[in-house]
Amino acid sequence: MTDRPAAAKSHQPDPHVRRILERAELEGVELVRFLYADHGGVIRGKAASRSRLAERLTTGIGHTVAMMAMNMLDQLQEVEHMGPVGEVRIVPDPATYVPLPHAPGAAAMLSDLRRIDGSPWDACPRTFLKDAVADLATEGYTLVAAFEPEFTLGRRLPDPAGGPDRLVPIDDSLCYAGTGFDTAHDYTIKLVRALETQGLRVEHYHPELGPGQQELSVRHAAALRAADNHVLYRETVRGVAMRMAMWATLAPKPLAGQAGNGAHLHLSLWDDTHNVFADGGELLECFIGGLLAHLPALTALTCGSVNSFRRLSPRAWSSAYAVHGPDNREAAVRICSPLGETGEPNLELKPSDSSAN
Ligand code: GLU
Ligand code: MG
Repeated sequence: MTDRPAAAKSHQPDPHVRRILERAELEGVELVRFLYADHGGVIRGKAASRSRLAERLTTGIGHTVAMMAMNMLDQLQEVEHMGPVGEVRIVPDPATYVPLPHAPGAAAMLSDLRRIDGSPWDACPRTFLKDAVADLATEGYTLVAAFEPEFTLGRRLPDPAGGPDRLVPIDDSLCYAGTGFDTAHDYTIKLVRALETQGLRVEHYHPELGPGQQELSVRHAAALRAADNHVLYRETVRGVAMRMAMWATLAPKPLAGQAGNGAHLHLSLWDDTHNVFADGGELLECFIGGLLAHLPALTALTCGSVNSFRRLSPRAWSSAYAVHGPDNREAAVRICSPLGETGEPNLELKPSDSSAN
């Protein structure tokens, strides 16, 4: 507890805080989940009760450093300075408070992991992103992003042989098929409403290629907001399904031999006035060149699981080839044609899936 005065001093009073406390009371929120995505892309966190919220919004909640060395199977990995000794704080971003429609009585806030004196922690991915956004701003640019996530909707049934529970897809409807809209209808309408209530603007939906596979995309936003949105999206996709006694998974390849679940990452670069990709030319070419030059590293970061690599194969439209091309769905970098005159030209990084951090 010796850290508390230092942590409290390092935070300025925030205009959002009073509003959060008022809203939590008005909306009957009992627990506020402070969420972060770990290095394996798993969304984790701790929740503060409403009665302690005013204080916890400032101090954050104490957390072991070891959780950033935990893999997706909850096996603690040997990482220097991420063992049993050491502590960070899960500190929520006041601008991100949102009640969760799929978890009545709960709200969520996207959070940074900070040192106990309140300073940034090197191992916090959200801080890393904020620093990258700030670096780009010094060059006069903003990165705008959107994910194009796919997921599999089904039911969770026990394995008669006593193995792990089985995912049984809700249907075997065909790709984009009218019947697929109907089999998933009750779920998708609830999902759209839950996302919109959280301020995520839904763009498009369709039943996808594989059994039970769905695709629903959310409108682009500045990079940090887009990343935060995708955390809320993943929580909501699964949460809505759970409340309907269904099971939704964003795992890259949940069913062997069936279509994988991508979460292609759409990117555009903006200066003060406009999307500079619209001008074409050297800047766009250099950006594409950068993506291709760094593709192995970007693939490591955006394909965060062993399961990811089962998805990346030819004829799966998931980027088996390290090339770029206009509206080329086998290329790692697709140059997307804009929708109409007001549409925004953007680049699609196709390896990315929802196990990305
Ligand atoms: N399911 C494919 C993937 O794993 C993407 C299909 C598409 O939307 O073009 O990336
Ligand atoms: Mg798709």
